[in-house]
Amino acid sequence: MAEIRVESLHKAFGDFVAVQKSGFTIADGEFFVMLGPSGCGKTTTLRMIAGLDLPTGGRILLDGEDVTFNRAAQRDIAFVFQLFALYPHMNVRQNIGFPLKCEGVGRREIHRRVEETARLLRIDHLLKKPVSGLAGGDRQRVALGRSIVRRPKAFLMDEPLGALDAEFRAAMCQELRQLHQRIGATTVYVTHDQLEAMSMADKIVVMNHGVVEQFGPPQEIYDNPATMFVAGFIGSPPMNLLPFQGKVAAGGRVVAINGAEVAVPQLVEAPTHDKLVLGVRPEHIRLGEDGTLRGRVFGTEYLGTTQIVTLETEHGPVKARISSKIEAQPGETFGLSFITERLSLFDTDSGRALRSQTGEAAHV
Ligand code: ATP
Repeated sequence: MAEIRVESLHKAFGDFVAVQKSGFTIADGEFFVMLGPSGCGKTTTLRMIAGLDLPTGGRILLDGEDVTFNRAAQRDIAFVFQLFALYPHMNVRQNIGFPLKCEGVGRREIHRRVEETARLLRIDHLLKKPVSGLAGGDRQRVALGRSIVRRPKAFLMDEPLGALDAEFRAAMCQELRQLHQRIGATTVYVTHDQLEAMSMADKIVVMNHGVVEQFGPPQEIYDNPATMFVAGFIGSPPMNLLPFQGKVAAGGRVVAINGAEVAVPQLVEAPTHDKLVLGVRPEHIRLGEDGTLRGRVFGTEYLGTTQIVTLETEHGPVKARISSKIEAQPGETFGLSFITERLSLFDTDSGRALRSQTGEAAHV
């Protein structure tokens, strides 16, 4: 088992910088998710951790030891690719035992470790079966078994469930997470799917254009996004971002937004200029007679107990998640009020959150 520390990691391909001075620590035994849109540098970072690519700057420490320039084989880390690649002419036992055979491990030891791995994955009843006849879920378990059997220090997984349909993918996510609880190995999992990341991770690093935007536990990232990018990337629907020109009043508690006053959390430091963005999650908006802003309904999306109502306001469209029992017809006008302590404020120029006293710890 291992702690992985990434310090100022940098990777350039010629003039193009794919990863810029990234830093984060993955604690021993953690299920750590690297999240971000396509091309943000997740795979490049993972490959450097694995030793498959060399960085152009920075360091990678494995349990405190600098392994930045060690070859992949010296790191004892398993890189799990898409989970379908099995040897079709071998049975389950031979598939799982194959990496040990390649390493020259003795037959009895291979037998013991394959049995142990199969029990862990709950496929010990399938050991003699040919892999060609297995159902999809069992094939994935065998492929995982091939990585687990080596008992590496850590597992790196690059969108391992990418090829699956949504339902099967959700089931496998749950299974991976349960398996992680049983074996407790440090796992780094790459995905561009924020819902998958939120449901699986102990900690998440959010990347964009090769830069680490934020890292921390899912709830911290959801509640206190450090940047406008994170606020707009996490959540379904994501945080509403309302640009406005206004002042934070003395004491930092009230923001003037086109004449109306919005109470915001106490800021640690006052903004240096008046071009700000107010961030509010859809579930922190109340619709009523009065409110800070007025909005006209132009769409509703029924979700069972809740509905997403889209309203046109003078700050642009705003999505509110409210009870389905509330009638909201297209064309109807509401007052929008916000739950003060759950609001975020961002600096338009830097895109970074203005630190509030409640959310201070969340910012990188
Ligand atoms: P995806 O989810 O699409 O795989 P990603 O976040 O994993 O995206 P990377 O694969 O790390 O992104 O790629 C980051 C950027 O670096 C991309 O713009 C990609 O085109 C570029 N890149 C990756 N490998 C190379 C390479 N060998 N040579 C040049 N550019 C590369």
